Amino acid sequence: MEAQEKQRREKSLARAAQLKENIKDYLEISQGIPSGYKDWERIKKNQANIQSAFGISSTEWFDWRWQLANRIGDTDNLQKVLSIDDEEAVDINTTGSKYRWVISPYYLSLIDQNDPADPVRRQSIPTAMEYYDTLGEMDPMDEENTSPAAAITRRYPDRLIINVTNKCAMFCRHCQRRRDIGETDTNATEETLEAALDYIRHNEEIRDVLLTGGDAFMLENDTIDWLLTELENISHVEIKRLGTRAPVTLPYRVDDELCEVLSRHMPLYVNTQFNHPLEVTPDAGEACLKMARTGAALGNQAVLLRGVNDNPYVMRKLNQELLRIMVRPYYIFHAKEVKGTSHFRTRVEEGIEIMEQLRGYTSGLAIPTYILNSPGGYGKTPILPNYLVNFYDEKVCLRTWENHIMEYENRS
Ligand SMILES: *Cc1c(COP(=O)(O)O)cnc(C)c1O
Repeated sequence: MEAQEKQRREKSLARAAQLKENIKDYLEISQGIPSGYKDWERIKKNQANIQSAFGISSTEWFDWRWQLANRIGDTDNLQKVLSIDDEEAVDINTTGSKYRWVISPYYLSLIDQNDPADPVRRQSIPTAMEYYDTLGEMDPMDEENTSPAAAITRRYPDRLIINVTNKCAMFCRHCQRRRDIGETDTNATEETLEAALDYIRHNEEIRDVLLTGGDAFMLENDTIDWLLTELENISHVEIKRLGTRAPVTLPYRVDDELCEVLSRHMPLYVNTQFNHPLEVTPDAGEACLKMARTGAALGNQAVLLRGVNDNPYVMRKLNQELLRIMVRPYYIFHAKEVKGTSHFRTRVEEGIEIMEQLRGYTSGLAIPTYILNSPGGYGKTPILPNYLVNFYDEKVCLRTWENHIMEYENRS
């Protein structure tokens, strides 16, 4: 080998060794992070236990209507399938008197009984912290005052949300719209939906419509089909989006019939909310790959939650797991000041550190945008670590992902 070439190769090998060193801590720690694929045997055992506790067959288990009809929402049933002591049962009932809770048997099966800090447990089982939370407001984003028509929230010039239902397969303990959960499941009425469609018809600048809730997949297929068709009949509506947590909390909802409906409504974007790698199971993966085959583009809107994913390694792993099931990380939301959820809140610095530990360390595809929702409904504000550290006359000063500071010519 020529001397120069040899030198180059040596330099490259030294750099590669440095990069290898750089990822060592992550590779070590990530092995200890629970994940839906790694823990699948344990989860399957839980599923078998739940099936025998409720005397059902595996056919029923995979039937999303059975799962929905048999959501667990009282401590008697919960105690049949999850070890909770009496004190915890009292707390659940106390909090339950203020904030409704239900969990799909599937989502419950992900919980590791032996892990008191289980991230699925923390998202789904009520605690006394909710009841005694004195901070936070019911509607910090002022959604009630940004609703120009029934069921619509409009905060942006060219797009809006229709809240189609308050129904969910599981009520997240960190829910930002818990004021809408109430005591019963209610879908928007046909009149309400007609009024929302009318608003869009009369406002030609609206080119992007999001159906959410609640969970848009809690609607019947016919209703989803009808709504998407009506939106397509409005010539200025260019794209449709669906917001659903069903791929995470009830993956069996994504059946062939629903996929057939979705496949007829391109361009269509489905956004879901995986918050922890434990939620990325083979069943959730199958649901997402199935949806991806319809042509719909899948995105993830995680929420940064204390005790669930407030850790750079957990977030890196989550976003990598998502790419394997064709879900592109889209947003990480900073938890809002919603009453009953203060124990989930982190500081903004923690979110910035998570972003810092993504860029460069992993695929750009695995990097979502970190978002603070402005108070008063003024919309999403992106937050980034600072990589442009200074401006000079004809130079800018950069900070690389590895913290090298360097000058960059800035001339046109
Ligand atoms: C989040 C949100 C949207 C969508 O925002 P994107 O940044 O385009 O994903 C639209 N309308 C409302 C009211 C929202 O809260």
